Parts: sequence; structure tokens; C-alpha cells
Amino acid sequence: MTRENYDLVLTGGRVIDPSQSLDGPYDIAIRAGKIAAIAAELPPHTAKITQSVAGQLVCPGLIDLHVHVYEWVTDFGLWADDVGVNAGVTTIVDQGSCGPLTFLGFQANIVRSAQTDVRCFPSVNLAGALKGGMGTPALHSPEMVDLAALAALAREYPEVVRGFKVHGESGALSRWGTQVLELARQAADAAQLPLYVHTGELFAVVEENRPHPDQVIDYVLPHLKPGDLLAHCYSCRPDGLMGDRPTPSPALTQAIAEGVRLDLGHGINFSFAIARRLIALGLFPYTISSDVHGDFTQPHNDATLDYSLCGALSKLMALGMDLTAAIAAVTLHPARVLQAETEIGTLQTGSRADITVLATSAAPWRCRDAQGEQLIAPQQLSPTWVVKSGQLLQPHRRLLRDLVTAS
Ligand SMILES: [Zn+2]
Repeated sequence: MTRENYDLVLTGGRVIDPSQSLDGPYDIAIRAGKIAAIAAELPPHTAKITQSVAGQLVCPGLIDLHVHVYEWVTDFGLWADDVGVNAGVTTIVDQGSCGPLTFLGFQANIVRSAQTDVRCFPSVNLAGALKGGMGTPALHSPEMVDLAALAALAREYPEVVRGFKVHGESGALSRWGTQVLELARQAADAAQLPLYVHTGELFAVVEENRPHPDQVIDYVLPHLKPGDLLAHCYSCRPDGLMGDRPTPSPALTQAIAEGVRLDLGHGINFSFAIARRLIALGLFPYTISSDVHGDFTQPHNDATLDYSLCGALSKLMALGMDLTAAIAAVTLHPARVLQAETEIGTLQTGSRADITVLATSAAPWRCRDAQGEQLIAPQQLSPTWVVKSGQLLQPHRRLLRDLVTAS
């Protein structure tokens, strides 16, 4: 009788893979960097490494759709593998740190040096974010958008460039109206890629032209199409999706019904109260992302970072999202946004062996939001193992300061 030879076998875990509606006790076999088999009982085999993950959750490798990892060029960027594999995340998507003029440095120094799978939504402006929202607003002006350069970028680097980032907030609207959004729409249509739209005041506002906070989202929505994403969906900024409204505007409700997607983009403005108002209407985020970044005022300083993708997952579950839906929001759904769902975000046989193993702690977890509200989460998910392209890694979790990690 022939025996299968595998490189790695993970045994005894509870496998949750929303791409196959799979939830149960399965063993997973990996060979040559791919998922070779997944079964309640694997056929007779030998394996170079067999790792027990009993009592833990085994998911497709997590995908974080919003991070900032263009370190040193942007002063709030962090090292990709700290945010990626070492935080339990196998694919990260940088939102807007580079633009057409700065992409090659991103590709050479970040994409090619990281073990983590790094993709990006370049900013529609030529240079990218550089100093987040703290730099000169002129960087984000319509004069800085070059449609030919964006088209060339998307055409030449299709594996990495998966969409474009643009800002739909009061500072931009007060300076340029919707001009930049209109250009972003043209760039996305030409490249057939989605737009990722920042919401919530970011750039310095020209006060005499400040739009009414309640109207900001309604200026943005006419420029979006199904498949585009609204970032920071539970932000407490007054000009965000909800602001002080008790319920979303009819235009927002309609846009979501037609296929515009909500992304969490946790960041520094996540509000549990706003989340509850939208969740009461069934409006959970399509994707859960972290918006992990360093301090805006001190270059390359991560000391103030106190949130993470796994922490965001645990918070969303505390707010009422069920486990399978939460896992889908960091695996299958972002893979669809990246149009890469046959490759990542799945444990289908033959797909790339990117896997995240999560331990659940039963101890309640006290977490806080941007407005100081405390929430007791019944459990916490924390990464214990990562498989990246077939290689078994133990994440060092240096940036997971929000999670109480058992050492
Ligand atoms: Zn961001």
C-alpha cells in the first residue's frame, strides 16, 4: 500500500473555512507549499512535521485589508512582518502609503523583503500618504492625480496593485469638492479595480467651506460602485458614515444594498456605540481590517499602537458577530476584494498553504473604544501558529499589545 508523503500535517484542530462551508474536526496536510488534503482522517502517510493544534481554531491565513507598512518613507509605517505573519496574518494590504511615484520603493523594500504576502491599494495621488493626514493637504490635491500613471501601475503590477485608495472626508471636500473622487472613479474604472474610500475628517479643513458633517457621505456615494469599500464604517468622526445620526442616510442604506462594502478599518476612531447602531440594522462589516499604523507625530514609533486584527475580531464577536461570519470577514471576503479567492482566504485542496491557528481564551477581556467605552468581550482570539506558503511559523506577537497573550 502506498503512503502519502507530506511536508506538514496539522492535527486535531477545529477547522473553519467559510469558502467551503467547513466547520469541524479535520486534519490538514501540506505539500510543496499547497494544501494537499483536508479530512477527518487522512490516508496513511508520513510527514516531515506533525503539529498538534488540538483545541484550537484552524482558519485560512488571515487577510488584513488595511495596514500601513511603507516604513521610513511614510513616517507611520510599520514593518510588514510585525503586522503580518508575526501577528497571525498571512496577507496584508497597504492602503494608500505609496503612489505611482513611490511604488517601486514599496515593491523593492517591502513586498520583496517580507515573508508576508504584501499587496496594496496605491493612493490616487502621485506620492502616497507620506505623513498620513498630517502632511500638507496639497499632496492630495487634484493636480497630484495622474490617470495615465495610475493606469500604468495597475497594468504593470497586477499581482500587487489590487485597487486604489482615496479620501471622502471634510478636509478634501472643503478644498477641492469632489474633484479627487471623480478622478479616482476614472482610475478605478480604467483599471477595473475597486476603490477604497477613507471616511472621517483627516485633512485640515478650510472652515468657510466645511461641508455639513451629515452631508459628507452623501457627497461621496455618487462616485462609488458595487465592490467599492467604505473604510472606518464604525468611526466616531462627525463626518463619518453615521456621525450623530441615529440611523444611516437612505443613500447609504441603498448603496450598501446595491453592493458597496463596509470595512471596519479599526484604527483610532472605532466606536462601539456607532457599531451598535449599524449592527441593529444588520450592517456588519463585509471585511474586518485593522488600519494598524505607527504614531503620526514621531517617525517609526509603534509605542502608541494598542489594537490589532485579532483584537478587532474579538471585539466584533463581542458586539454580536458570530464566529464563522467574523472568520469570513478576514478570509473569504477580503480574498474576494483582492480577486484572489482561488489562491488565498481558502483551505481548498490545491490552494496556497497559508493558514492561521487561533487559540480562544475563555477568560473575559476588557477592551475600550476611541470614546473610552469599555466592553467585556467573552473571549479572545490569539494566533498561536501561522503556516505561510507551507512553512510553519510561531508568531512573536510583538504588536499584539491589546491581547493578553499567555506566554
Ligand atoms: Zn489607514
